[in-house]
Amino acid sequence: MTADHRDSSWRRARCHALWRHQGGLCFHCGCAMPDPLTQRARHRKRLDSATIDHVFPRALGGLPEWINEVAACRSCNAAKADRMPGFVELWRLLWLKRETLLPYIDTAPDCVAVLREQKKAPAEAGAQV
Ligand SMILES: [Zn+2]
Repeated sequence: MTADHRDSSWRRARCHALWRHQGGLCFHCGCAMPDPLTQRARHRKRLDSATIDHVFPRALGGLPEWINEVAACRSCNAAKADRMPGFVELWRLLWLKRETLLPYIDTAPDCVAVLREQKKAPAEAGAQV
């Protein structure tokens, strides 16, 4: 996927995928955001509209990849601007993207694998709720 493919329809589909992955809630404030795929064009500038936010800002070298992308309401995205993530945001990002990260952890030494087993328990408990 090159940057050329990232037109407005690609971004809306991506925003929808992030939105769905987060249960429709803003990464930062937790507010409920309308589905970006079904939202009318004239409503997309509303402050509760879902936008793609790069947790590590693009302007500071953050990757334009799933691992660094979250759905955030327009209000939070504008307020955050190009600030680096804080400790809490970083951990929430790692937790949110854990399914993407696990294959990489598999290639790490055994001590990391042990940590992964410990991390699995709350993930499975959460899935049963
Ligand atoms: Zn928000």
